[in-house]
Amino acid sequence: AQLQAATATAAANYPTNHEQIAQPQNTPNFIDNQFRASEATQWIDLHDPATNNLVTRVPQSTDAELKAAVESAQKAFVTWKETSILHRQSIMFKYVALIRENWDRLAASITLEQGKTFADAKGDVLRGLQVAETACGITTQIQGEVLEVAKDMETRSYREPLGVVAAICPFNFPAMIPLWTIPIATVAGNTCIIKPSERDPGATMILAELAEKAGFPPGVINIIHGSAKTVDFILDEPLIKAVSFVGGNKAGEYIYSRASANGKRVQANLGAKNHAAVLPDCNKNHALNAIAGAAFGAAGQRCMALSTLVLVGETKDWAPEIAERAKQLSMNGGFEEGADLGPVISPQAKQRIEELIGSAEKEGATIVLDGRGQKPEKYPNGNWVGPTIIANVTPEMTCYKQEIFGPVLVCLNVPTLDDAIELINKNEYGNGVAIFTTNGPTAAKFQKSIEAGQVGINVPIPVPLPMFSFTGNKKSVAGGGANTFYGKPGLQFYTQQKTVTSLWRSEDATSSRASVNMPT
Ligand code: NAD
Repeated sequence: AQLQAATATAAANYPTNHEQIAQPQNTPNFIDNQFRASEATQWIDLHDPATNNLVTRVPQSTDAELKAAVESAQKAFVTWKETSILHRQSIMFKYVALIRENWDRLAASITLEQGKTFADAKGDVLRGLQVAETACGITTQIQGEVLEVAKDMETRSYREPLGVVAAICPFNFPAMIPLWTIPIATVAGNTCIIKPSERDPGATMILAELAEKAGFPPGVINIIHGSAKTVDFILDEPLIKAVSFVGGNKAGEYIYSRASANGKRVQANLGAKNHAAVLPDCNKNHALNAIAGAAFGAAGQRCMALSTLVLVGETKDWAPEIAERAKQLSMNGGFEEGADLGPVISPQAKQRIEELIGSAEKEGATIVLDGRGQKPEKYPNGNWVGPTIIANVTPEMTCYKQEIFGPVLVCLNVPTLDDAIELINKNEYGNGVAIFTTNGPTAAKFQKSIEAGQVGINVPIPVPLPMFSFTGNKKSVAGGGANTFYGKPGLQFYTQQKTVTSLWRSEDATSSRASVNMPT
């Protein structure tokens, strides 16, 4: 009965409103293609950020459950890696179709648990779906290389799966980021363990249900829950060969070091402080709209949110004009018609963001637009912070140095493009950056000299599509960013190269003396 209850929860349609759920159900684990009620003794309450009503309780999966998930994945790997690539491709096609069919349901779970608006949550799902769609091209993507190196000798290289791989996910993209791992890892023949964020695992649970329906055999995809304890299990478990992490620097730097020290492959995308340089020759209307949208969309809780504006030369007084556009944005429950931004994830996040705004005030910056204390009438108990713009910020200020991860735009002034480039390159993060200009050589100079993973030219949030890779720089990636997510490097990350050299000679050797020197 317990198992059935858990299954029903995961398969249930998520409500498309913020009303109190009559009987919140516990989130189950997903092991061996079954939703299994956890026997946890520790539970993490998950609240709707718009109301702080209880939505579900997420288990700190027990040691036995964590072990069972890995054993299931290891067992599945033995047969999954032997399946033909066409078979895996056909399952991926079905998976893509099912994600598309369940697009609204996935988005609703995100709005309820994470808080972003329903329209934005649909984008979250789509960006993950596109990774799965791209993975359907595996039959050409995974091809190796062959060279006839001599008349009777050939060298070929090809890619093999690693085994069990794990993903540790952040709260801000509950569908997209698990889908940076699931499609590529599995279509290449790996099995995986996903640990969604304990703050919003609902979308991952739906993705698991759809995986089973698409025909993934038991154990190819397993979901476990929890926080640091589950992460430590993943980092130390010898059967797990690779770890994908996306999240903040504190957890990410620790995870990178410990998993690497344990001999695992690690890819880790971390925090950000994304700058946009605005030049006086830009298309002003486009730039101001783009900046307001990219700073305040998803309540600023995107790793590629545009959080820092560098006003170059005569653009120094543009902050109030951005404020006018920000004031037109509607902050409301994510299911409400016309909502532009929802709440932030937790009361703690709200407090931290408000404290950072307060620090800017104390340190001498100008609050051009203050979102503190704002709330939509219908949802007085949510974690609300309205769009906030802080001008006359300098690089020593706390609000400039820390990742705010809320709907706050900090603005700095510099006289020239060179000063803008110098300022941006001095910042320790290097995730994304943008420039707004109509001048080609200006854009070219910026593109060439800027130290950031993603560069947008008149594009405020230049997140690469799945045929490219998400390429961070500096402190926004661990390990120097060698292992980037999705695209060709993503497939390389989840596969091991093997190089085979063969000699097929019809005549027998004539000499009976062995040669000991390297051939010259
Ligand atoms: P987070 O680091 O708090 O959590 C991420 C994951 O790590 C979660 O699954 C969590 O359970 C686990 N975790 C947290 N603290 C831990 C600890 N002390 N020990 C072990 N595990 C721990 O991040 P978040 O708040 O969920 O997400 C927001 C952060 O993620 C922001 O910094 C944002 O910039 C970053 N992010 C980066 C990218 C990117 O591609 N660069 C994308 C999305 C989010």
